[in-house]
Formats: sequence, structure tokens, C-alpha cells
Amino acid sequence: MQKLKLFIDNQWSEASDRGTFTSLDPSKNEPIAELAAATPKDVDRAVQAAKKAFDSGVWSDIDPDKRAEVMLKAADIMRRRLKELARWEALDVGKPIHETETVDIVYAIRAMEYFANQAREIKGEVIPLPGNAAFDWVSYEPYGVAAGITPWNFPLHLATRCICPAIAVGNTMVAKPSSLAPITPVLLGEIFQEAGLPAGVVNIVTGSGSTTGEALISHPDVRMISFTGSAEVGKRLLEASAKSPIIKKVILELGGKGPFIAEADCDVTAAVNSLIVGFCLMQGEVCCASTRLFLHEKIYATFMEKLVKRVNSLKLGDILDPKTQMGSLISRDQLKKVDDYVKQALAEGARLAAGGEPYTAPPCDKGNYYRPTVLENVTNKMKCAQEEIFGPVLVVIKYRDLDEAIAMANDSPYGLGATFWSENPKKLFYAAKKIDAGIVWLNTNVMSKIEAPYGGNKNSGLGREDGTVGLKEYLKVKNNVLFIAKDYDNFYNFKD
Ligand code: NAP
Repeated sequence: MQKLKLFIDNQWSEASDRGTFTSLDPSKNEPIAELAAATPKDVDRAVQAAKKAFDSGVWSDIDPDKRAEVMLKAADIMRRRLKELARWEALDVGKPIHETETVDIVYAIRAMEYFANQAREIKGEVIPLPGNAAFDWVSYEPYGVAAGITPWNFPLHLATRCICPAIAVGNTMVAKPSSLAPITPVLLGEIFQEAGLPAGVVNIVTGSGSTTGEALISHPDVRMISFTGSAEVGKRLLEASAKSPIIKKVILELGGKGPFIAEADCDVTAAVNSLIVGFCLMQGEVCCASTRLFLHEKIYATFMEKLVKRVNSLKLGDILDPKTQMGSLISRDQLKKVDDYVKQALAEGARLAAGGEPYTAPPCDKGNYYRPTVLENVTNKMKCAQEEIFGPVLVVIKYRDLDEAIAMANDSPYGLGATFWSENPKKLFYAAKKIDAGIVWLNTNVMSKIEAPYGGNKNSGLGREDGTVGLKEYLKVKNNVLFIAKDYDNFYNFKD
């Protein structure tokens, strides 16, 4: 059993009231770690450490090259510890080790390297002014103390997605990972310590959203918040920012209900393969998962036959077995929630094409496994087509006309990732323009690179993470105007 403390000011400490909580391996529902539950007093200590570090200039005022040096060293340490981090990630989240070794930890290392290097490229602008003795220049500056609040589905990847850009440009950070899977984000504290990060630049506090998270988002010294999680909590964060004496900058990365449109002329085999990744990767607990299939009536039968055959062949099993393709849902509650959605859909008239129940064959009998599920005979107005289920459940809606499919795809409270398959280039450009989403995948699916902006519209979020667009979210813009000749200042024509 791992025992992990709070990482504040480069020191490891218990919670002020010595409170703890445990984190479970969801594939067995067994405890694997005991963690400190940060009180509001601990959160204040973390914010004060971050503020002191920021105000001292020990990080914000140094050459970006020096910041990059420390972050690149951290990336090297992560690479050295990749296997260990991947194992903890698999155990804490219940996902297959094959995914954590090849996707999750690799993405986290890339974030560390990319933002370290990219922050060196931040440049200002000069605005032309009349005359020879006037300058207007635009500069970019860090906010100060940033808070990073992240969910459990990609703990290390999502923690680094906000910590790295924030500190690369000179902010300091208090991070709060989800209490359902906090292990690898806390281990980041050890990594930063070894890399030589100055005290207070990154602080990591663990605990529940309702206590630790609330204390962090309402702290008056927190200037910006990067939040990844549900739309419900995202809205709560906006409220907290509005009620704060000083409005906080907020970036929101929220949920989704990804549409996947398969036109009659698409490459059926390739589309089916990409759709399965879209809704089964990480057991469907992915914000940009493709969970609504709009399938052209002309290819309906062929497509469905291939889809169901492939879905039924997926291997659920021991998450540490490299051959396992699907693991366990995060909790008993999540398992029940997914099953309830499926039961309700069936009661409303949906038809089961695959799955539809928990998977309990050994060695999965103690965990929260759910069979990948395909529901046909669904309308876009049904609850299962409108709400984020966050499990391996795909709903299928038949269509005849492309504009009808696009209208249904857009008829959703979410607008994160969307997918379109066709062999016709005209249709590809048309769909890219008409679909209301932050990311549109054309003849591919759920592919994201750290160099590209990531985020959504409507209830899927506000602002973007990743890429240079994401990096700039962590900077304030300042316009600086200098007049060396003073005559322009005499607007009211004062005589003396
Ligand atoms: P969540 O319940 O909203 O929690 C997210 C984080 O917020 C957790 O650390 C949680 O802490 C904390 N939190 C909860 N209530 C809070 C409050 N009142 N004040 C401050 N913090 C609070 O979401 P989740 O169930 O962990 O994650 C699933 C959701 O995240 C899905 O909707 C998914 O689509 C979305 N997501 C979006 C992206 C994206 O990039 N757009 C990526 C991944 C996931 P505790 O868990 O410790 O209570």
C-alpha cells in the first residue's frame, strides 16, 4: 500500500487534521494507496507557498531557458520511471497497462517537453504609432498563482496538461487531482523535487472536490483556474469565480457526447475500426469518445454486422496483462450509472445489438467491468443520446440525408470532438465547416497531438488547452504605450 502526503513548498506533510482517504484499484475494488485529505488550512498553506514563490521572482523572473532546463530534467526522470508510473496509472484507474504505457505516460512526458520548449518562443508585438518617439508594445505575463483541478480518467496526462504550460511561462501552481485516482499526480512532486524545481512553484494537494477543491477555487490569492471535469462542476467554478472579490481567469475542459457520422461512401472497415477505438478506449471513460453513431441507411446492415462482430471480440481482463484490451470502470457507482442508462434506454425502446450488462467472468468478478454495448433503434432526443454516460456505450441512429445527420450531430448540449467519414473530399470540407465542435476528425478518430489546441464548445468548455493557443491561456496580455515626445498628452490644450 502506497502512503502519500501533501506536497507543499517542496516538503511532504500530513493534513493539518491528519485526515486520510484511500484510493482503490477499481479492477479489484481493493485499496492500493492511503493519501492525505487536505483541509482548507492546508490549501491555504499551499496557495501561500505558491504566492511566495511567484512574488519572489525565483521562477517567474528567470530566463525561460532556465525554466525549460528544470522541466526537461523532469521529463527525463519521468521517462526513467515510465514503467512504474504506467503501472500505478493502470492500477489506480483500472485501465489496461498497454494503454498507460503507450498513451497516458507518454503524453505526460510530451507535455513536459513541449511546454518547456514552447515557452521560449513566446514573443510580444509592436504596434506602429505616428512620430519617431512613440512605442506601443504588447507583452505577455504570467497570472501568478494558478490552480489546476483535474479528473480521474487520465490523471497524469491531465495534471501535466495544466501544470506544464502554467509553470513554463512563469506562473506557480497548486494542483488538485481527483480523489478517485490521485497517485501519479502526487508522484510528480518527487519528480519535480529531483529535477530541482524551486520550492513553492508546484504544490500538490489531495482530497475531495467538496472540501479541498472548494477551498482552492474560492481562495482569494488564486488568480486563474484550469479545470478539467464535468460540466456541472465547471459551472460551479464559474460561479465561484464570479463571487470572488477579484474575478479569476477560468479555463474549462468539460464533457462530451461525440457524434460519428458514417456516410454511404466511407471505407467501412476503417471507419468501424476507428469507431471502436472511439467508444471503447479507456472503457469509454473519455471526454471526446464517439458515443453517437449516425449511420447512413445504405451501409447500415454491412457496417453494423462488422461493428458488432468486432465489439464482441474485445478482450476484457486483468489490467496488468499486456493483451487485455478493456479494463474496469472507475467505481461501483460508475458501473451502476452506466447500467442504469442502458436499462432506461431499453425501456424507452432501444434494441441491444451488443453487450448491455456488467462483465463478471474471472478474473474480472471483483471489479467494475462493463461489456462494450451497442444500442440500436435510438432517436437523438432520447436521454442515452443526449447525456454523457461515460462508459463503453454507443447509440446508433440511422439517417438518409447528410444535412439531417449534421443537424442531429449539432443538436446536443456538448461540442467537443466529432468524427466524419466519407471518401468524397467535398463532403469532408463541408462537414468540417458545418459541425459545431472544438475538434473535427475526418477519416480518423480521437487523435490528439499536444501541438494542436484541444477543447470544446457549448457545455464542453471554455478556452483551449495544448498547442500555442493553450499556452497563451496561461498568460495575461499587457499593452504598453510609451511617448518620449510629450505633446500628444495635451489633449485638453492646457496652456501652462
Ligand atoms: P468532476 O466530478 O467534475 O471532477 C473533476 C475534478 O473536480 C475532481 O478533481 C473533483 O474532485 C473536483 N471537484 C468536484 N467538485 C468540486 C468542487 N465543488 N469544487 C472544486 N473541485 C471539485 O469530473 P470527473 O467525474 O472526475 O471526470 C469526468 C468528467 O471529466 C467527464 O464529464 C469528462 O468528459 C470530463 N473530462 C473532460 C476532459 C476534456 O479535456 N474536455 C478530459 C477528461 C475528462 P474529487 O473527484 O476528488 O471529488
